[in-house]
Amino acid sequence: MSSLDPALIHALNVRLVDHAELGISPADHAVLQTSTIAALLDGQYDGDVTIGEILAAGDFGIGTLNGLDGELVIVDGEAWQAPAEGPVRRVGDDEQTPFAVATRFVTDEIVEIEAPLDHAALIALMERHAPPQSGCDAVRIDGTFPALHLRSVPRQKKPYPPFKEIAAEQAESRYENLRGTIVGFRFPHAADSVEMAGHHLHFISDDRSKAGHVLECSAGPATLRIETVGAMRLELPPGVALPDPSELPSEQLLHQVEGG
Ligand SMILES: [Zn+2]
Repeated sequence: MSSLDPALIHALNVRLVDHAELGISPADHAVLQTSTIAALLDGQYDGDVTIGEILAAGDFGIGTLNGLDGELVIVDGEAWQAPAEGPVRRVGDDEQTPFAVATRFVTDEIVEIEAPLDHAALIALMERHAPPQSGCDAVRIDGTFPALHLRSVPRQKKPYPPFKEIAAEQAESRYENLRGTIVGFRFPHAADSVEMAGHHLHFISDDRSKAGHVLECSAGPATLRIETVGAMRLELPPGVALPDPSELPSEQLLHQVEGG
């Protein structure tokens, strides 16, 4: 196994763990992650951690399911999947994820959004309250979303193509005036080897009928809650190593495949 990049340890206080050490207590202010964004982008769409294990560790998170089957949203201790086709559904405890990040959400700061903010203003607001040079934070936004542009990725068949080859297959949808929750995280650039730098947001409606990865949105009136995260527990499935920093996906590719 490759060693941890000192910049990453400094930025995220990463510790590699196995299945027995996935648990997080609220006092930890930690995130649990399985696999790396570099491995996912490379086509490693099957993992070895179950949704039940994730839910035992955390109650708030995002990711996907094995086979790159849609977008995963974990909110209030429940896991939901937005498939590329078909209705949003509860995820069973025995289903597995190739990439997920979760925390036991604790509100460290609360910000009321009174008038609707467009996407850029929403990101700027979050960055003001949790500066990009800080470590990682988890963000939760509950309220009204005047505009939402969501996407979901379609389940893949083996041999798995790399993510960049399927970016064009993603299902996109646009909604207006939904009530719901954004579940997301912000990671610093030093985490590029493991996570998407910047904000990564998923949405689910209050009635649990609409969900997906947020490409763009406006929000408000809404309540923003921020948890400052001080540590990451990272589980690596078989065949996934820590990425070589010289082989990291470019920011342009990350933007193309994951960005908003
Ligand atoms: Zn996503």
